[in-house]
Amino acid sequence: MTKVHGVFSLFLLSLSQALAMTAMFLESVYLGLGYAIFLMATSLTIVYTYCTKCPVRTTSCGHVFVGKITQIFPERKEGPYSQFEYTIVVIALLSLIMIPQYWLWNNRGLLIAFWILVILAGAEINRFVCPQCDNSQCIACKKQKAIKKN
Ligand code: SF4
Repeated sequence: MTKVHGVFSLFLLSLSQALAMTAMFLESVYLGLGYAIFLMATSLTIVYTYCTKCPVRTTSCGHVFVGKITQIFPERKEGPYSQFEYTIVVIALLSLIMIPQYWLWNNRGLLIAFWILVILAGAEINRFVCPQCDNSQCIACKKQKAIKKN
Protein backbone atom coordinates (compact mmCIF):
# COMPACT_ATOMS: atom_id res chain seq x y z
CA MET A 1 0.00 0.00 0.00
CA THR A 2 2.90 2.36 0.76
CA LYS A 3 4.08 2.03 -2.83
CA VAL A 4 0.63 2.99 -4.14
CA HIS A 5 0.82 6.20 -2.10
CA GLY A 6 4.47 6.69 -3.04
CA VAL A 7 3.82 6.39 -6.76
CA PHE A 8 0.64 8.47 -6.51
CA SER A 9 2.45 11.27 -4.67
CA LEU A 10 5.19 11.20 -7.30
CA PHE A 11 2.50 11.46 -9.97
CA LEU A 12 0.98 14.49 -8.22
CA LEU A 13 4.38 16.17 -7.98
CA SER A 14 5.10 15.43 -11.65
CA LEU A 15 1.73 16.91 -12.58
CA SER A 16 2.48 20.07 -10.57
CA GLN A 17 5.78 20.43 -12.44
CA ALA A 18 4.00 19.87 -15.75
CA LEU A 19 1.73 22.80 -14.86
CA ALA A 20 4.74 24.92 -13.96
CA MET A 21 6.31 24.07 -17.31
CA THR A 22 3.04 24.86 -19.11
CA ALA A 23 2.98 28.33 -17.53
CA MET A 24 6.49 28.92 -18.84
CA PHE A 25 5.79 27.52 -22.30
CA LEU A 26 2.83 29.92 -22.52
CA GLU A 27 5.34 32.73 -21.98
CA SER A 28 8.02 31.42 -24.32
CA VAL A 29 9.07 28.12 -25.85
CA TYR A 30 12.69 28.76 -24.88
CA LEU A 31 11.69 29.45 -21.29
CA GLY A 32 9.68 26.22 -21.19
CA LEU A 33 12.53 24.20 -22.65
CA GLY A 34 14.99 25.83 -20.28
CA TYR A 35 12.82 24.91 -17.31
CA ALA A 36 12.43 21.34 -18.59
CA ILE A 37 16.22 20.98 -18.60
CA PHE A 38 16.46 22.62 -15.16
CA LEU A 39 13.77 20.27 -13.82
CA MET A 40 15.58 17.21 -15.15
CA ALA A 41 18.96 18.36 -13.76
CA THR A 42 17.52 19.30 -10.38
CA SER A 43 15.57 16.05 -10.01
CA LEU A 44 18.67 14.00 -10.84
CA THR A 45 20.70 16.09 -8.39
CA ILE A 46 18.23 15.21 -5.62
CA VAL A 47 18.29 11.53 -6.53
CA TYR A 48 22.09 11.46 -6.68
CA THR A 49 22.64 13.47 -3.51
CA TYR A 50 20.02 11.78 -1.36
CA CYS A 51 18.67 8.57 -2.80
CA THR A 52 21.96 6.95 -3.88
CA LYS A 53 22.91 6.81 -0.17
CA CYS A 54 19.58 5.28 0.83
CA PRO A 55 19.87 1.73 2.21
CA VAL A 56 16.44 0.69 0.87
CA ARG A 57 16.63 2.25 -2.59
CA THR A 58 16.69 -1.11 -4.42
CA THR A 59 14.48 -3.05 -2.03
CA SER A 60 11.58 -0.99 -0.74
CA CYS A 61 11.64 2.57 -2.06
CA GLY A 62 8.11 3.89 -1.52
CA HIS A 63 8.37 6.00 -4.68
CA VAL A 64 9.49 2.90 -6.64
CA PHE A 65 10.79 4.71 -9.77
CA VAL A 66 13.10 6.94 -7.75
CA GLY A 67 14.84 3.90 -6.30
CA LYS A 68 15.23 2.47 -9.80
CA ILE A 69 16.74 5.72 -11.13
CA THR A 70 19.50 5.51 -8.49
CA GLN A 71 20.86 2.53 -10.43
CA ILE A 72 22.03 4.75 -13.30
CA PHE A 73 24.52 6.38 -10.92
CA PRO A 74 27.80 4.94 -9.65
CA GLU A 75 27.57 3.11 -6.31
CA ARG A 76 27.84 5.35 -3.24
CA LYS A 77 28.42 4.29 0.31
CA GLU A 78 25.22 4.12 2.34
CA GLY A 79 25.28 6.12 5.53
CA PRO A 80 24.33 9.31 7.32
CA TYR A 81 23.69 12.43 5.26
CA SER A 82 25.92 15.45 5.74
CA GLN A 83 24.70 19.00 6.34
CA PHE A 84 25.94 19.81 2.85
CA GLU A 85 23.78 17.05 1.33
CA TYR A 86 20.72 18.20 3.25
CA THR A 87 21.37 21.78 2.11
CA ILE A 88 21.61 20.77 -1.55
CA VAL A 89 18.37 18.78 -1.37
CA VAL A 90 16.46 21.56 0.43
CA ILE A 91 17.69 24.19 -2.07
CA ALA A 92 16.80 21.91 -5.00
CA LEU A 93 13.29 21.20 -3.66
CA LEU A 94 12.62 24.84 -2.81
CA SER A 95 13.81 25.97 -6.23
CA LEU A 96 11.37 23.57 -7.95
CA ILE A 97 8.54 25.05 -5.93
CA MET A 98 9.51 28.72 -5.82
CA ILE A 99 11.04 29.45 -9.24
CA PRO A 100 7.81 28.73 -11.19
CA GLN A 101 5.77 31.07 -8.96
CA TYR A 102 6.61 34.13 -11.02
CA TRP A 103 5.13 32.59 -14.21
CA LEU A 104 2.29 30.78 -12.45
CA TRP A 105 1.20 34.10 -10.98
CA ASN A 106 0.21 35.22 -14.50
CA ASN A 107 -2.21 32.30 -14.74
CA ARG A 108 -4.20 31.98 -11.51
CA GLY A 109 -5.87 28.70 -12.56
CA LEU A 110 -2.50 27.00 -13.01
CA LEU A 111 -1.21 28.62 -9.81
CA ILE A 112 -4.09 27.24 -7.71
CA ALA A 113 -3.87 23.78 -9.32
CA PHE A 114 -0.08 23.75 -8.75
CA TRP A 115 -0.45 24.42 -5.02
CA ILE A 116 -3.29 21.93 -4.59
CA LEU A 117 -1.14 19.22 -6.20
CA VAL A 118 1.94 20.10 -4.11
CA ILE A 119 -0.06 20.14 -0.86
CA LEU A 120 -1.80 16.86 -1.69
CA ALA A 121 1.53 15.21 -2.57
CA GLY A 122 3.11 16.50 0.65
CA ALA A 123 0.19 15.20 2.70
CA GLU A 124 0.35 11.79 0.98
CA ILE A 125 4.08 11.50 1.65
CA ASN A 126 3.82 12.70 5.24
CA ARG A 127 0.80 10.55 6.09
CA PHE A 128 1.43 7.34 4.18
CA VAL A 129 4.99 7.12 2.79
CA CYS A 130 7.35 8.43 5.49
CA PRO A 131 5.74 6.42 8.34
CA GLN A 132 6.47 3.16 6.49
CA CYS A 133 9.87 4.07 5.05
CA ASP A 134 12.92 2.10 6.23
CA ASN A 135 15.56 4.66 5.28
CA SER A 136 16.90 4.96 8.82
CA GLN A 137 19.42 7.60 7.71
CA CYS A 138 16.73 10.04 6.62
CA ILE A 139 15.97 12.96 8.92
CA ALA A 140 12.24 12.43 8.22
CA CYS A 141 12.28 8.70 9.04
CA LYS A 142 9.37 8.27 11.42
CA LYS A 143 10.14 4.63 12.19
CA GLN A 144 13.62 5.59 13.38
CA LYS A 145 12.21 8.39 15.53
CA ALA A 146 9.74 5.96 17.13
CA ILE A 147 12.57 3.49 17.89
CA LYS A 148 14.66 6.26 19.49
CA LYS A 149 11.70 7.36 21.62
CA ASN A 150 11.21 3.88 23.12
S1 SF4 B 1 13.12 5.51 0.01
FE1 SF4 B 1 13.26 7.76 -0.17
S2 SF4 B 1 15.45 8.21 0.03
FE2 SF4 B 1 15.24 6.01 -0.42
S3 SF4 B 1 15.44 5.86 -2.65
FE3 SF4 B 1 13.26 6.01 -2.19
S4 SF4 B 1 12.79 8.21 -2.31
FE4 SF4 B 1 15.00 8.03 -2.17
